[in-house]
Amino acid sequence: MTGQRSIIMHFPLLMIGERKPEDIIRDLNGLHKKEIKFINNEIKLIDLKNHQVITDKQILEYDYLIISLGVEYHPETVPGFREYALNAYQFEDVITISQKLHRFNSGRIVLFISSLPYRCPPAPYEIMFLLDCFFRKRGLRNEISLTLVTPDYSPEPLAGPKVGQSIRKMMAEKNIELITTAKVLEVEKDALILDLGARIPADLLLGIAPHWTPQILRDTDLVDSNGYVEVNPHTLETKYQGVYAIGDNAAIKLPVIGADAPKAGIFVHYQGEVVARNIARLAQGLEPKFRYTGKGA
Ligand SMILES: Cc1cc2nc3c(=O)[nH]c(=O)nc-3n(C[C@H](O)[C@H](O)[C@H](O)COP(=O)(O)OP(=O)(O)OC[C@H]3O[C@@H](n4cnc5c(N)ncnc54)[C@H](O)[C@@H]3O)c2cc1C
Repeated sequence: MTGQRSIIMHFPLLMIGERKPEDIIRDLNGLHKKEIKFINNEIKLIDLKNHQVITDKQILEYDYLIISLGVEYHPETVPGFREYALNAYQFEDVITISQKLHRFNSGRIVLFISSLPYRCPPAPYEIMFLLDCFFRKRGLRNEISLTLVTPDYSPEPLAGPKVGQSIRKMMAEKNIELITTAKVLEVEKDALILDLGARIPADLLLGIAPHWTPQILRDTDLVDSNGYVEVNPHTLETKYQGVYAIGDNAAIKLPVIGADAPKAGIFVHYQGEVVARNIARLAQGLEPKFRYTGKGA
């Protein structure tokens, strides 16, 4: 963590030059205006027994703890990713992607999702539609092929079949190729290698690197078999009283479909509200009455 933070959800616009890095960076030190102390340390250990968070510089005691550490990217787990692909979810790579796109005049761009689950399920589709728009505006669209490769059986399966069909239709209308149920085995200099011997040639390879929760969480007994923090889906409290988890690092089972809530900022926002309001009530000796309902958009 740094004293500044880039707003991830603007990465697709940063890619096509509709945002500049300075437009999407916020200074977190301004939080003191709301009487929130921002400590810019790296957390090394969460000591649940002793109610302490141990950082590289100090030990923090807590009465309540909200864990929101997100995920870490692991491009090294896909052979060839680091050498031949750029991570569309990582700030420095997005800057490079933007530079390359502005020089790209013809050829095939392939965006691939390395593994499931991945944060912000709509983002790869958003990126493809923005690329279509970017090249159309430059009068180059006929020179460019766009391909999206996903392990999902359909676009955004959690949003239901209607959404999937409508995204497929929009992609077909814009001549964006979609390859579903794809298992990425390797990235080569000029191609993506899928299982069953499929080889997708590419002039520019953009990927979403595999990602999962930070090791410091995996070292605790808070996580489920997939490494995400188990919580009560209504209160977002873990099995440790007063310890909550929200956001991409949490496994929040949606009651209707039994799957985990999508990993998107809008969901984190509502989760944060529930936890904050309940802690405020507890601090006043009141019942924590707020419940997370899976609300999102
Ligand atoms: C390209 C893209 C587009 C997106 N677009 C949207 C969108 O349009 N709408 C939407 O709702 N969501 C969107 N999302 C998803 C959204 O950004 C995430 O769901 C959200 O940021 C998750 O918040 P979080 O707090 O769980 O994790 P993060 O935002 O990742 O925050 C975790 C923080 O913890 C810090 N951290 C981790 N480990 C340590 C440690 N050991 N010590 C100290 N600090 C640590 C990290 O540095 C980071 O600052 C998008 C995501 C991407 C990648």
